[in-house]
Amino acid sequence: MDADVIVVGAGLAGLQSARRLQDQGFDALVLEGSDAVGGRVRTDVVDGFRCDRGFQVLNPAYPAVDRWIDVPALELQRFGVGAIVRDGRSATTLAHPLRHPQHALRTLASRHVPLRDVAALARWLGPTLLRPQTATRAATDETLRASLDAAGLTGRLRRDVLDPFLAGVLADSGGDASANYVRLLLRSFALGAPGLPSRGMQALPEQLAAGLHTAVRLRTAAREVREVSSGVEVATDAGSLRARAAVIAVGPQHVAELASLPAPATHGLTTWWFRATGQPRTGPFLLLDASRPGGGPAGPIWNTAVISRVAPSYAPPGEHLVQATTLLGEPDGRADEQAVRRDLARLYGTSTTRWEVLTHHVVTHTLPAQPPGPIARGPVWTGERVLVTGDHRETASIQGALAAGVHASRAVAARLGLA
Ligand SMILES: Cc1cc2nc3c(=O)[nH]c(=O)nc-3n(C[C@H](O)[C@H](O)[C@H](O)COP(=O)(O)OP(=O)(O)OC[C@H]3O[C@@H](n4cnc5c(N)ncnc54)[C@H](O)[C@@H]3O)c2cc1C
Repeated sequence: MDADVIVVGAGLAGLQSARRLQDQGFDALVLEGSDAVGGRVRTDVVDGFRCDRGFQVLNPAYPAVDRWIDVPALELQRFGVGAIVRDGRSATTLAHPLRHPQHALRTLASRHVPLRDVAALARWLGPTLLRPQTATRAATDETLRASLDAAGLTGRLRRDVLDPFLAGVLADSGGDASANYVRLLLRSFALGAPGLPSRGMQALPEQLAAGLHTAVRLRTAAREVREVSSGVEVATDAGSLRARAAVIAVGPQHVAELASLPAPATHGLTTWWFRATGQPRTGPFLLLDASRPGGGPAGPIWNTAVISRVAPSYAPPGEHLVQATTLLGEPDGRADEQAVRRDLARLYGTSTTRWEVLTHHVVTHTLPAQPPGPIARGPVWTGERVLVTGDHRETASIQGALAAGVHASRAVAARLGLA
């Protein structure tokens, strides 16, 4: 035997499974097809700028992050709790009145925050804020769109703020996600201040990997996972490995290659990373575009932020880093550089002709779709000794991937018996 358990995939779910199995006394070996750990949580360093592979944030209020991650060691640089909304007339900063009292009056008086909508939002989200179980254990669920409509949350707070914000978070503007899941997401945003680790988002999986006794085998893709009489055999280009059980944690787009399961549906986005000349004045907030009459952005960009304003460690001293995100599900989701540059000029009200593209990430499978229904289905056995897990079995998030790892390790430990 090469290990008690072979874990295929060194994303957050695979790393967390291996770590928890190890803590329970099992010998876990992680195989990763690419050149580093992290899966969808990777950071490229380009000319001294840290560019995450797709704009993403770490929310310390996620229960699994709070429980399993050493957040202080990541030196999180936090976003402001709020957003700047750009519409056809102006850009308005809307911020949490207690955390950013300097913006309180303007936020409460803003045309983007009508009282009727605030009351509807409180009715819709309040019970989950107080007791998250109301969402996780709810007997019924429906699409976000239908649920917000039914709650009467139909005004500008929804159109100008919630819809564009959630489209970026879900990588989808369709409103077809589970309403209960979105309630939980918004609860995490209400309770935490998301941020970026000083060394980039990849510091998160690297922290998990550093806790493993056996180094992750990089550039070692599993070609086949099959059950044999003594357990499992995993074929790789460098030969076969044997273990008592296997955990397949390869991400939604690769599941069907290794297990007899259908490929989960996914949503995608792109992120452009620019070296900006001068720092646009946005504060530490995400900028949302609500300029299209009737809702949504007037151009391809759904959200943008001056990342170096939030996370100075992401840029060399004196330099400015801007991210711009488009959604692949939209007709202009693959807008070219000129279109994105033009849109940024409109959004920031400044010339961008001298801004330099550092890199551009097209992340086709950013997130598994999260349709209405049970919020987390949990890992699934595809044989006696082969378990499939990942964010697509839990929730489409860092929280979901970490929880997937924990649940997988428990299931495997129970099947193998205590080590
Ligand atoms: C652009 C972007 C933005 C995001 N923003 C946020 C956010 O702000 N907040 C949030 O909570 N979540 C966010 N997410 C989602 C979050 O990153 C994912 O839910 C989570 O990282 C998924 O982890 P995973 O381990 O399930 O899968 P993955 O990260 O996909 O890991 C799977 C791993 O398996 C490897 N693999 C695949 N096939 C094989 C094989 N045959 N053999 C060996 N290895 C293999 C892959 O290389 C990969 O390393 C974002 C994701 C992206 C891409």
